Amino acid sequence: METKKLTCIECPIGCEMEVGVEDGKVVFVKGNSCPRGKMYAENEVVCPKRVLTSSIRARSGEMVSVKTDQPIEKAKIFEIMEKINRTTCDLPVKVGDIVYEKIDGKANLIATTNVGV
Ligand code: SF4
Repeated sequence: METKKLTCIECPIGCEMEVGVEDGKVVFVKGNSCPRGKMYAENEVVCPKRVLTSSIRARSGEMVSVKTDQPIEKAKIFEIMEKINRTTCDLPVKVGDIVYEKIDGKANLIATTNVGV
């Protein structure tokens, strides 16, 4: 069995955790102060995910900050960034507007700033 050390990033406390992994499966999690830490550790070991933040250029030239509205698999980040780099939008854009629906098949890419409002 392999033991991995992880820092939970689900809240600012940052609990240090130990995760036991055997045959690609989590067999124990220690050091978490709440169930969110256990869930984070299990996901991080089996299929790590992150919310992706970036920016796109509107057709009129202004930059629009964007992020995915849910975490996406780390393994897909390069592929998703290529889609983001080819994405554009029309203004005005408000916080929360979807600029690319289901960019990875599930998560939407949404604006995080108001531009041209
Ligand atoms: S385990 Fe719970 S308390 Fe600890 S950092 Fe994660 S979310 Fe915060």
